[in-house]
Amino acid sequence: MPYTYDDQNIFAKILRGEIPNNTVFENDHALAFRDITPQAPVHVLVIPKGRYVNHDHFANEASDAEIVGYARAIGAVCKLENVTPGDGQSGYRSIANSGEDGVQEVPHFHTHILGGRPLGRMLARA
Ligand code: 5GP
Repeated sequence: MPYTYDDQNIFAKILRGEIPNNTVFENDHALAFRDITPQAPVHVLVIPKGRYVNHDHFANEASDAEIVGYARAIGAVCKLENVTPGDGQSGYRSIANSGEDGVQEVPHFHTHILGGRPLGRMLARA
């Protein structure tokens, strides 16, 4: 079943400038901004500027330029937020929730970059 993108989702409104955001980084293909309800000292959301519902939608249908721009934005955010292990910093977790089991709330693809404290296990034990 093809994905249907909802132009009224909150991140689409942020991209159109209808809702303010606290921007951390921007390039031609991605925007990164602070989560409104941070779950760690560093909690940044990285979104593509294109109309993609989730990670597999983006991976399958985005152009190479969009994918590169998005990946570079994540790298830039890690540097700006001082969580890059390769720079001797304490690391981070990147999470892209998708669909019902992934408990995705906003239907515009986004990656959470979380850090600034030990984050515990990846998943709670079932
Ligand atoms: P999801 O559960 O879809 O992976 O995560 C959506 C995230 O978007 C949540 O962490 C939530 O706090 C964040 N969020 C929802 N609405 C807004 C908003 O208007 N502005 C910002 N900056 N973050 C939002």
